Amino acid sequence: MNSSWEDDALCAQTDPEAFHPRPGGTSRPAKKVCDRCSVRPECLEYAISSEQRFGVWGGVSQQELRRLVQARHGEAA
Ligand code: SF4
Repeated sequence: MNSSWEDDALCAQTDPEAFHPRPGGTSRPAKKVCDRCSVRPECLEYAISSEQRFGVWGGVSQQELRRLVQARHGEAA
């Protein structure tokens, strides 16, 4: 599960709670961090391929990520 892109994850240097907003909360602060992250494509690809369902990954919200996972894997969320 160790990926080299994780070494450059910008979120590791920020508040991890921003990446797991509470229901009804905003993912905007986390997305702003992702916008500046050099490994965003790798992160998003990892999140989709490993079917992550919780939290902000690769600049997309939890809901957006679930749709991408669904589209890739063709299963109900
Ligand atoms: S894209 Fe966002 S969630 Fe992914 S490693 Fe970078 S800061 Fe973290």
